[in-house]
Amino acid sequence: MTYIVTEACIKCKYMDCVEVCPVDCFYEGANMLVIHPDECIDCGVCEPECPPEAILPDSDPEAEKWLELNKDYSESWPNITRKGEVPTDADDYRDAKDKFEKFFSADPGQGS
Ligand code: SF4
Ligand code: SF4
Repeated sequence: MTYIVTEACIKCKYMDCVEVCPVDCFYEGANMLVIHPDECIDCGVCEPECPPEAILPDSDPEAEKWLELNKDYSESWPNITRKGEVPTDADDYRDAKDKFEKFFSADPGQGS
């Protein structure tokens, strides 16, 4: 069992989740975060912290299509353990649809 990040995180990246994760298993892309499924201990504390509700348990039917993305990019993006600067336009994208198709970037973030 693990939790995963869905496309709702893209261009929001509030990073409240990284502050509460006890095992520091978030990884940072240019405009979203992912969770390393093998490192997540399934504690669930990050889920209610995420403003756009981007974090789901992998038991959720919606989670399945994002599991590979979390797995793949947590291997190549840098680890992030502290909240960085939130994009100034994050709220503008909070309810945007089809964020993966429109805005996903495979580029790594800076990590911390
Ligand atoms: S709190 Fe949610 S939106 Fe913010 S970085 Fe974490 S997963 Fe993404
Ligand atoms: S469920 Fe717990 S261990 Fe997994 S990412 Fe969230 S806070 Fe970290």
